[in-house]
Amino acid sequence: MSEPVYFIKVVHSEEDLIISKKIQELILKQNLLSFIEPRDFVAIKTHFGEAGTQGYVRPLHFKMLGKLLKDIGAFPFLTETSTLYRGRRSNAIEHILLAFEHGFSVQETGLPLIMSDGLLGDDEVEININARIYQKVGIAKLLEKSQSMILVSHFTGHMLSGFGAALKNLGMGCASRKAKLIQHSTAKPSIKTSKCTGCGECVKWCPADAIAVVDGIARIDRNTCIGCGECLATCRFDAVGYNWSETHENLQKKMVEHALGVMKSKRGKIICINFLTRITKDCDCMRGHNRIAPDIGVLLSHDPVAVDAASVDLIERTVGKKWSQLTFDIPNRVQIEYAAEIGLGNPDYQLLEM
Ligand code: SF4
Ligand code: SF4
Repeated sequence: MSEPVYFIKVVHSEEDLIISKKIQELILKQNLLSFIEPRDFVAIKTHFGEAGTQGYVRPLHFKMLGKLLKDIGAFPFLTETSTLYRGRRSNAIEHILLAFEHGFSVQETGLPLIMSDGLLGDDEVEININARIYQKVGIAKLLEKSQSMILVSHFTGHMLSGFGAALKNLGMGCASRKAKLIQHSTAKPSIKTSKCTGCGECVKWCPADAIAVVDGIARIDRNTCIGCGECLATCRFDAVGYNWSETHENLQKKMVEHALGVMKSKRGKIICINFLTRITKDCDCMRGHNRIAPDIGVLLSHDPVAVDAASVDLIERTVGKKWSQLTFDIPNRVQIEYAAEIGLGNPDYQLLEM
């Protein structure tokens, strides 16, 4: 049986206030929050955007969601986890202050902001999943404790997973720091010595102190490297190479098994909302904001696999190109196919345009 995915069409650059009203109307009309009970602690999980980025889902949508949840008598809160890489989101203090700068303060959204994985990303709980790669996965503790979840994802490209949306928000975004490390640890880069200028930018951003500039060329200690991909993102000279074919499939599968861990306690207690607006080649952790598709709309489903499958299909249909032609030329549907294989959700969806 196909999974319903609700689709709200938007015109390019449509005002967020209008989009928010459309989402509210759909949620009320279809009773999409009927799984929330009074006094449920509801984690509204999203990505607040790295400093200098623009693509993140705007705070006014969260204000609207928070109001709907409070009307039910629930206790909603905004939440996120720390990043692996160095930046302003690698600990709770800097992350929350950055979120406030981006408009996610309680004054603007009406919602408290509580980090799900504690001060330093190590507040985790192990969930038994007995899947193919992992027996257990480490999930941010507060997400496990909350009774319900609203997963709000901005659809973007991603250099390791092909694209990032609901499955990535669940699998990577809800994982503890240790679990994020485990997921990244198979992807190891190398330096293209002919291109390296020895500028040292990658050294500054490497979270594992795995890079040193020796005789004017960056050198990576592969034993120390955690495969986070930060050097690839920060090098402006195309001097960092990855063996994509060996790594991206594993990473997507690991990510999906972590998503399974989150869904263990959230099946029937979650709605996933994918924003197909301000679509960029790079994810919201990266600076730069080159749009690669027109604004398309917002998709809502109780199934993270269905909503991601519908999102990629819709973008490809709208633009007339494969997602891999628009962004990174790596297989990106591994995450959807594997999620279906391990019973995380259903890629067979029915698109219901509102
Ligand atoms: S950022 Fe790039 S060019 Fe600069 S040292 Fe690192 S690899 Fe070399
Ligand atoms: S060398 Fe690159 S991939 Fe490895 S840990 Fe450092 S930044 Fe991450």
